[in-house]
Amino acid sequence: MNFESLLIHGGIDGDERTGAVNVPIFQTSTYKQPGFGVNKGYEYSRTGNPTREAVEKLIAELERGYAGYAFASGMAAITAVVSLFKSGDKLLISNNLYGGTFRVLDKVFKNFDISYGIVNTTDLEEVRASIDDKVKAIFIETPTNPLMDITDIQAVSKIAKEKSILTVVDNTFMTPYLQRPIELGADIVVHSATKYLGGHSDLVAGLVVVNNSELSERLHFIQNSTGGVLAPFDSFLLIRGIKTLAVRMDRHNKNADVIARYLNGREEIEKVYYPGLESHSGHDTHKRQASGFGGVISFVLKDSYDYKKFVESLEVVTFGESLGGVESLVCHPASMTHGSIPYEIRQNVGIVDNLIRLSIGIESEEDLIKDIQNALDKSRI
Ligand SMILES: *Cc1c(COP(=O)(O)O)cnc(C)c1O
Repeated sequence: MNFESLLIHGGIDGDERTGAVNVPIFQTSTYKQPGFGVNKGYEYSRTGNPTREAVEKLIAELERGYAGYAFASGMAAITAVVSLFKSGDKLLISNNLYGGTFRVLDKVFKNFDISYGIVNTTDLEEVRASIDDKVKAIFIETPTNPLMDITDIQAVSKIAKEKSILTVVDNTFMTPYLQRPIELGADIVVHSATKYLGGHSDLVAGLVVVNNSELSERLHFIQNSTGGVLAPFDSFLLIRGIKTLAVRMDRHNKNADVIARYLNGREEIEKVYYPGLESHSGHDTHKRQASGFGGVISFVLKDSYDYKKFVESLEVVTFGESLGGVESLVCHPASMTHGSIPYEIRQNVGIVDNLIRLSIGIESEEDLIKDIQNALDKSRI
């Protein structure tokens, strides 16, 4: 089946018993056991639930992995993955990783002696040189949030394999429609399904896909033991969202391309970060490993523009956290998504106060450009 059809018919397609075209919401905590040691494959919904199982099978097929697991949020999914490691282990992370991932490593897992090292994963020599005996995995995002740095997934996975460590890719920004890290050699893919996979800003969810049975068993054990599972209703909403992923992503790609090129030509703008621009340093690498550039654009306003005024003057684009929904959103990384990263680190990596991140939705591109133009005009100091 082609990918677009798999989005709609993959995993568990409908309901065998009734013929319903959608997987029912199995809103149940427990299951009748006809006798001792006898059940129909389900005992308790933390361990397994048919609606959750449907989305787990679906994401595993979409990412071309061995098995998938659904969690109550992207952070619960990432927490489960980090729980595969033990005290004394160290993870290497990209240098402008999602703020929440940095925070859980820095403020939670550090207490359990699981440490992290920040590396520039766009520099393969630096990656190779940073892997010592303690390092057990490398955790990357590509493009990164919010600076859109591109890491060569295939090259990093190859280095990781040579050193017998795992490669984990947060594929939230691309989705399996545009980029499939397991096909490029990664071992584990994580998602904040809150974003493009859900696609409508109406749920919080996380997914993990692993590439082999050993990781699958360990991850299921962690999921069942720690319990941060996705609820049946949210599993249903996520399946519903995934069905339209291809058409939504095509439109996100198209709108973002138009807006990135518009911003790139404006005198109010210092710099535009979008991998679709030929001038972007990761453009060629990204094109090799993904089939589109996604809907997220970051840019820096010149000093003579007030970022607060700009953000507050937007009317079609909504000021708020998150990304990946059908509606366009604007956020201020330095105070919002990346507020938990210390000021000096933020400045060093380029998350300056005049940096704005746009998640371009699927509205009319003409309305979006008019809105941005109007806000630029109003924000001149
Ligand atoms: C939002 C996000 C997360 C966290 O996911 P939640 O669903 O908010 O818990 C992790 N990684 C990336 C890249 C994100 O954008």
